[in-house]
Amino acid sequence: MGGLAGKTALVTGASRGIGRAIAERLAADGALVAVHFARNEAAAEETIAKIAAAGGRAFPVRAELGTAGDVAALFAGLERGLREQDASGGLDILVNNAGIGSNGPIEQVTAEDYDRVFAVNTRALFFVTQRALTLLRDGGRIINVTSGVTRIAFPEEIAYSMTKGAIDTFTLALAKHLGPRRITVNNVAPGIVDTDMNADWLRGDPDGTAYAASAAALGRVGRPADIADVVAFAASPDGRWVTGATLDATGGSHL
Ligand code: NAD
Repeated sequence: MGGLAGKTALVTGASRGIGRAIAERLAADGALVAVHFARNEAAAEETIAKIAAAGGRAFPVRAELGTAGDVAALFAGLERGLREQDASGGLDILVNNAGIGSNGPIEQVTAEDYDRVFAVNTRALFFVTQRALTLLRDGGRIINVTSGVTRIAFPEEIAYSMTKGAIDTFTLALAKHLGPRRITVNNVAPGIVDTDMNADWLRGDPDGTAYAASAAALGRVGRPADIADVVAFAASPDGRWVTGATLDATGGSHL
């Protein structure tokens, strides 16, 4: 076990994709991990089983973000889980990873699409973080999974890009606000990663894969573990002097 022994972490959207890889990595580093999921309990249990098989500890927390009562449901589950694990209710690491995409350039974005992507990616992240501050111990870590699209124009996902841009501003202000408590707040910004989010155009499609690989200076498609390793740095004791930063984990696709 590594540098997170005795720490507790909440990872939102940890039943699959990047969130699952983050949960596995933080648990491998010694943290007790709350695996948040929305609907797919079996997938969350799969994440937990993988963590347990590797000698780590994790428990599930259910909440559909972007709905009424989402934050209350999440924290009721989190606090119950921490009590059951004898973790005394405190939190050391919050990873705001859950997110959804949006489709289309400005002409195609409906008011419903716009409200939905902001509700999940930005509003829920804001209020989850607000509530987490009541549990977060001094010296803690907040890591927001944003995106390389805040650094390059991506008109095909304009509303999604805006949600991630808003998080950049949130991270700057919150890092300053929480400095006196030695809580660091950072963004980790992935490029194109092979997850369900991109499955329709990337997975099994040679043209999509070739495009995504050529977009990265390092010449391949990103993997969830590439992102999890950067999150692990920000969560670790080694990350203590980095706050208000965006750590680009794009393989150079933002260059
Ligand atoms: P994914 O679709 O595989 O995972 C998204 C996760 O968020 C899932 O666990 C899902 O259950 C959860 N989620 C979505 N809506 C939710 C809701 N309403 N309530 C609760 N949970 C919800 O995609 P991913 O690629 O693993 O994405 C993880 C994060 O990485 C997202 O914030 C995404 O914007 C960001 N990101 C991904 C890429 C990429 O290329 N895959 C690139 C840049 C940023």
